[in-house]
Amino acid sequence: MAQNKEHIVMFPFMAQGHIIPFLALAQLLEQKKGCTITLINTPLNIKKLSSSLSPSSSIRLLEIPFKSSDHGLPPDAENTNALTRHLFFKLVQATLSLKPSFKHLMHNLVHERNGQHGRPACIISDIFFGWTTEIAHELGMRHAVFSTAGGFGTACYYSACLHLPHLKAKSDETEFTLPDFPEANKFHFSQLPESLRASNGTDLFALHWKKIFTETVKTDGFIINAVEELDRIGTMYLRKTFNMPVWAIGPLLLSSNGTNRAGREAKLTPEACKNWLDAKTPNSVLYISFGSQNILSKSQMMQLAMALEASGKNFIWVVRPPLEYDIDSEFKEDEWLPKGFVQRIKTQNKGLIVENWAPQVEILSHKATSAFLSHCGWNSVVESLIHGVPLIGWPMASEQFFNAKYLVEQVGVCVEVARGRSCEVRHEDIVATMDLVMNATEKGNQMRRKACEVKEIIKDAMKDEDGYKGSSIKALEDFSYCLMEL
Ligand code: UDP
Repeated sequence: MAQNKEHIVMFPFMAQGHIIPFLALAQLLEQKKGCTITLINTPLNIKKLSSSLSPSSSIRLLEIPFKSSDHGLPPDAENTNALTRHLFFKLVQATLSLKPSFKHLMHNLVHERNGQHGRPACIISDIFFGWTTEIAHELGMRHAVFSTAGGFGTACYYSACLHLPHLKAKSDETEFTLPDFPEANKFHFSQLPESLRASNGTDLFALHWKKIFTETVKTDGFIINAVEELDRIGTMYLRKTFNMPVWAIGPLLLSSNGTNRAGREAKLTPEACKNWLDAKTPNSVLYISFGSQNILSKSQMMQLAMALEASGKNFIWVVRPPLEYDIDSEFKEDEWLPKGFVQRIKTQNKGLIVENWAPQVEILSHKATSAFLSHCGWNSVVESLIHGVPLIGWPMASEQFFNAKYLVEQVGVCVEVARGRSCEVRHEDIVATMDLVMNATEKGNQMRRKACEVKEIIKDAMKDEDGYKGSSIKALEDFSYCLMEL
């Protein structure tokens, strides 16, 4: 019986970029602190997750009822990867309907008689689910919010939502600063997420986040997937603004279990990727992926493919159907890519095209991987940094613009090649950026040196040996100490 182990309930938003770090955090709490974990999610996500957990995992999966069609979403749309981008916010709004069922589930867990897991001590909820704070406190539990973004990105997003800087700008202004976060320096207006820029302060988007953030700040503490030494000004902002503990316990890393990672199957096994990469010289391959939700337009895909051919670089590219096609469209190389592209790169053994989902961590950890062309989603950033891989940034939405700014200005391991979903890109510019980052240029060498230093700082944060504890381990201990103080 696990009666004297701490029992923690975890509740991520229904997106791979949230579920993956939540699972990694669950594994860390299970392995390092001996906690028992119940992870709650909607039926389809739970079904997929149950096939991805290793048989030795004791994480308990619990379904919360949800029917997407009741909310004007397509049937079975329980994860952002099943949605076109304009429905993303609809799913976010639909999660408000989960409150009564969540309350009911928590009530049952608290009053579970002779349960193997014991009374839950704490709820760790997604930052999207600030409303769970009230339920935790009503039932006498602690509550922590886990922001799956880093400290800097969370801080900028919170501040930008609160102050809507574009509404206060004069017509000739192209830059702004965040009034309560001047340490973040200047932002260009193109670095504001589209939905935020379109907000007039009284629209659904603004009202939703205002409500969520009002509830979120009642939590007992913030967990972020970051390393304190690398995210000082972000963590400082969060501590100052919310006046509560902020635990930077990154990097949270989740490997694939076979071809399956957090319920999503890759078409290519990690072994097949490894075999392909093994045949390449060290530091010669560009990995390209835009995360679990973002897609390119057909013309952006064409330009990128042309750039890859013109540069002659080795690459692995995760290709998803372009904007103009259905999200689950089959791969149409003749329509999406230059004529004969796939055959040529196969013959020359220059590139690997992976449809929809690749074993990302395994690719980034391979010595042949030289750089990562990424949308700068926070998990991708962390997975790149822990392996010392510099980035070529193409931020597209939400806090990705802030992540890219952080990587360029504060860490020095990224060059931006494009910005935004609907930007026009030219293959010549992409080639120039690839050359700058991947060749032995002054900038490229400097970025690689910096990426190696960052990798060491991250490794140190997770060190727990011979009486030495890195900053993330100390933060994890402080978090569990605060949990015990019930
Ligand atoms: N991912 C993956 N294979 C892919 C694309 C993405 O394993 O082909 C994983 C990636 O490793 C990361 C997550 O999906 O852990 C994406 O999260 P991120 O925050 O980078 O972006 P999001 O999908 O939330 O925009």
